[in-house]
Amino acid sequence: MKYRKLGKAGVKVSEVSLGSWLTYGGTVADDSATACIDRAYELGINFFDTANVYRRGEAEKVVGKALAKYPRDSYVLATKGFWPMGDGPNDRGLSRKHITEQVHASLKRLNVDYIDLWQCHRYDVETPLDETLRAIDDLIRQGKILYAGVSEWSAVQISDALHLADKRLYDRIVSNQPQYSMLARAIEADVIPLCEREGIGQVVWSPLAQGVLTGKYRPNAEAPEGSRAANKDTAQIISRLLTDENLQKVEQLRAIAQRKECTLAQLAIAWVLRQPNVSSAIIGASRPEQVDENIKAIHVTLHENDVNDIEAILNNR
Ligand code: NDP
Repeated sequence: MKYRKLGKAGVKVSEVSLGSWLTYGGTVADDSATACIDRAYELGINFFDTANVYRRGEAEKVVGKALAKYPRDSYVLATKGFWPMGDGPNDRGLSRKHITEQVHASLKRLNVDYIDLWQCHRYDVETPLDETLRAIDDLIRQGKILYAGVSEWSAVQISDALHLADKRLYDRIVSNQPQYSMLARAIEADVIPLCEREGIGQVVWSPLAQGVLTGKYRPNAEAPEGSRAANKDTAQIISRLLTDENLQKVEQLRAIAQRKECTLAQLAIAWVLRQPNVSSAIIGASRPEQVDENIKAIHVTLHENDVNDIEAILNNR
């Protein structure tokens, strides 16, 4: 495994990390989930991402239980809060109340004494930024969380947070968690340039476009059995990525993967990791074999001609 710094923070995370959205605590049976997490850990993945809202806490429980057998200092555990955890007016968002309560609830579900990286799952337009950052800073000072990050914040929102933290002497956020893949490149315009300047690392989600970039979904063919697209609970979420245009691009990428002697999944992960501002690619896995395959992406080096050839296929800026 190779490790990168989480932005300019001192902590190092594996280039490939494992997440638990749409998988653990629900769709994937607990023993398979544990097998994936164990395989990841054995192969050197030290960075695990979850969120309070994934299966309303069930994902955190499965991840916490699977990791409990390993020394606490050997892995970096990330979770998040923002999305509704109940029907009450205070069961959502980034108020001091909700953040504090959710960090305590996550600590219980994960069965740990501290969270390495706590992330604001989205920006909360209803709460003053100062209240959110101050609440997070307090939790850092209490030792409940070690680092803070955000997810899907715009460049302006990240910049505002950094300025306010500097002004008030709060700890700065260290990471952003955006969607980023060959089929989702919005962060290249503003977010990456800002974060490069400010030392904020990207921990990117859905680097395989939920599996579309593995090449297992073929144009005009049924979704393979057991896949995210074939499952009635998750089919709708992946459907927006399964367009004819995307599937044609994936077909064209096959030749490049063949030339690089790697799989399409490895090519897609190597492509996001070519960005030095990316600290880690957070993959999902429903089977340990997927972890085995995907992790080998760290050995795929893309040269300028590879990147240019891929660019010509994607041509989707
Ligand atoms: P990916 O793009 O890596 O897709 C993962 C899915 O693709 C797997 O669950 C599996 O689905 C399929 N797959 C993976 N590897 C292979 C392979 N080698 N061959 C064939 N199929 C494969 O990431 P996810 O969409 O799962 O997201 C990853 C993580 O990012 C999440 O778990 C979460 O932690 C984070 N995330 C964060 C968000 C945010 O708002 N901050 C939003 C979404 C995700 P299957 O076998 O079922 O087809």
